Amino acid sequence: MTYTPPMSNDDFRRAGHELIDWIADYWETVEQRPVLSQVAPGDIRASLPTEPPAEPESWDAIMADVDELIMPGITHWQSPNFFAYFPANASPPSVLGELLSAGLGVQGMLWATSPACTELETHVLDWMLDLCGLPDRFRSGGPGGGTIQDSASSAALVAILAARERVAGQWRMDQMVAYTSEHAHSSAEKGIRIAGMFPEQLRQIPSDGTHAMDPVKLREAMLADIIEDRRPFFVQATTGTTSSTALDPIDEIADVCKEFGAWLHVDGAFAGSAAVAPEYRFVNAGLERVDSYCFNPHKWLLTNFDCSLFWVADRGPMTSALSIVPEYLRNAASDAGSVIDYRDWQIPLGRRFRALKLWFVIRTHGAAGLADFIRNHVHMAQALAERIHGHPSYELVAPTPLSLVTFRHTGGDEDNERIRDTINSDGEAYLTHTRLADQTVLRVAIGAVRTEQRHIDALFDRLDELA
Ligand SMILES: *Cc1c(COP(=O)(O)O)cnc(C)c1O
Repeated sequence: MTYTPPMSNDDFRRAGHELIDWIADYWETVEQRPVLSQVAPGDIRASLPTEPPAEPESWDAIMADVDELIMPGITHWQSPNFFAYFPANASPPSVLGELLSAGLGVQGMLWATSPACTELETHVLDWMLDLCGLPDRFRSGGPGGGTIQDSASSAALVAILAARERVAGQWRMDQMVAYTSEHAHSSAEKGIRIAGMFPEQLRQIPSDGTHAMDPVKLREAMLADIIEDRRPFFVQATTGTTSSTALDPIDEIADVCKEFGAWLHVDGAFAGSAAVAPEYRFVNAGLERVDSYCFNPHKWLLTNFDCSLFWVADRGPMTSALSIVPEYLRNAASDAGSVIDYRDWQIPLGRRFRALKLWFVIRTHGAAGLADFIRNHVHMAQALAERIHGHPSYELVAPTPLSLVTFRHTGGDEDNERIRDTINSDGEAYLTHTRLADQTVLRVAIGAVRTEQRHIDALFDRLDELA
């Protein structure tokens, strides 16, 4: 038997150059496409052949199907008119870093399985502390350190497992209670469930007038649990909630956690990127007192999914929770304890070389370029918030500390749904809603790489027409 690859190295060169051209053309013209895919459920599958191909197919045939069959089912997250959820940036250097990572095809589970994969990650995570003005306690030289997770959800799960490990042997698992705010991301509850606890072991603490966690209510909830012989072990606070970018008061929450010995994890998934601009470092307030912190460059820092940065102040409980050493993974460097093995910092064993794309992004932009990228979005969002505030039919429903504008048509829920659906179905822009104070409100999240003032102007004009 011999195997002849159907795509030779020379074919790969040609196809690869073509594909890069395809992506560059796509980015150049993405603004002309309807942002939200308009297909119905099942349309894409119905267009695909029922059977897999028995014989080789040409690259040209495959790409023709990308254009004809796949593209109609794409929602254009890279469109400058994408204002839904939070952004999911892709930029030229990050895509090239992703491609290089795929080409090298290394598995970075151990230092020994590709030393550069581990050491570049450690180094870039230390750089990010400098770039964002984050506390030294997360630096790799001490007991803490940082790693790249696939998502903020995985970071939350790892934090929960580390927190549980820290009190294992003292407290039974069914006594343990976790706390988060009513506006926290669903990943907190998912993490608790995956960690083998019941949803009832997670308390949702009410928020204040700005939709941030109320630390007085947090303390009351913990006291009530202790009286019932339960043990507060974990708090997940949020800087920049998904609904409205509310900032939980980390310093006051840290006081409460300290009093009861609970692990404090901070989820800065979206807002954390803002700290590359020194004037927005209010998002870091209190982080010098937390046990773990995470934010996602794959949302708002030019790095395509997946790239979620996760730091711990003390890696001991985490690696103690996650390290299992079968014989076939043993090696001299690990045995000597002289290296980091990132498999002990995450759920899976295998891991990609994700640091490359972040390194490319940082080097291509420099600190000044990253800060300008963020600033531009915040300025556009805050100007939009002012215009909405001045409009007779709309009102802001939450502050705009960064680049998410939350507002509503004063007519009520049905008007807001009508406006959202009209804008989304005509394809000119894409925005989503949330619920705050029991009302449907609209969200405009500004953060796509190609969004310019003219796109925001067009959106405002459309909102005005639909009012
Ligand atoms: C988007 C978001 C998440 C989830 O991020 P993933 O990386 O997709 O898991 C978590 N928390 C907040 C506040 C978010 O905005």
